[in-house]
Amino acid sequence: MTYLPPNPQRLERARQLMASTAIDLMLLGPSADFRYFTGRPGHLSERLTALVIGREGPPALVVPKLEAPLYADLESSFRLIAWADGEDPIAQLVTLAQTTGSRAIAVNDQFWSGFLLQLQDRLPERSFRRASPLLRRLRMTKDAEEIALLHEASRRTDAAWEYFCAHERLTGRTEREVAARLSELLLAEGLHEVAFCIVASGPNGASPHHETGDRVIQPGDPVVIDFGGSYYGYYSDITRTPVAGEPPSGFADAYEAVLEAQQAAFAAIRPGVPCQDVDRAARQVLAERGYGPYFIHRLGHGVGLTVHEDPYLVEGNDEPLGPGMVVSDEPGVYIPGQWGVRIEDLVVVTEDGAERLNRVSHELLRLP
Ligand code: ZN
Ligand code: ZN
Ligand code: ZN
Repeated sequence: MTYLPPNPQRLERARQLMASTAIDLMLLGPSADFRYFTGRPGHLSERLTALVIGREGPPALVVPKLEAPLYADLESSFRLIAWADGEDPIAQLVTLAQTTGSRAIAVNDQFWSGFLLQLQDRLPERSFRRASPLLRRLRMTKDAEEIALLHEASRRTDAAWEYFCAHERLTGRTEREVAARLSELLLAEGLHEVAFCIVASGPNGASPHHETGDRVIQPGDPVVIDFGGSYYGYYSDITRTPVAGEPPSGFADAYEAVLEAQQAAFAAIRPGVPCQDVDRAARQVLAERGYGPYFIHRLGHGVGLTVHEDPYLVEGNDEPLGPGMVVSDEPGVYIPGQWGVRIEDLVVVTEDGAERLNRVSHELLRLP
């Protein structure tokens, strides 16, 4: 696996926020937060791995000795502290906290409680708090490098979908077979990992997060296909709902309504607009067309180093959108016992509006 080199500007911005929120030391376990600063996810296991960011100097990477080679290329910008089996890794963190004179320590959500409780016992004078308010502010607004990687992840995902539509059939295949084929195509396009592939045919489509199974796709089934992969840790996430042959009665009308709602939400996305207003724009279209009760989830979520992250496009979230945020726009209509339809694209908020990351057709597609 190759990783991108760490971006020093992120560390700088983190330290500005640490200073303004009176945090002396940040401890990050293996996670998307860890990857944000180091370029790699880190290995989450019973052995302690932690990134330790103080107010100045190179951040420390406390890692199990047998995994130190995985971090060797970071030695110029991080201080590597390798601990051997049989040694006490918590002692390394205690020393780091003491030598930096840190009083307020912020810990990310993926720093395991087993380690944290030991550390708190041994540093009773320190105050501990969550790092997530600081980290979400950093990660919610993507920098140029992140936006380029998200573009690339979506471009490759689109290419896999276009190949699928041109060469593959739905009728007579199981959901699992379709998911397996699409997963192969995602990897063939150079995505590093398939993150998820929901294939929900006919009545299964009425369950938005259906677990892909052995149902054989029948002629006339709409098939909700929601899939994505990652590229250098950045995720794609797209949904299309093609039909195996000719759509059942009522489906084309619902499809048109969902597409109109998706466009209305896209048109509402720009800097300064509260997240909930984008959800409302889509919901209003579906309500006016009689599908209000069948749109049973929020409109969308942020995407970056994780598939679901801030900001959430949901009623009750009045946080304004800002340039550099990347969100999904995914309204759906789900008719129990019959079928579902969802259309999803990723969208980046620009200085004066929005741009779609997915470029493949939204039109109602009939596949063999
Ligand atoms: Zn979902
Ligand atoms: Zn999705
Ligand atoms: Zn999504």
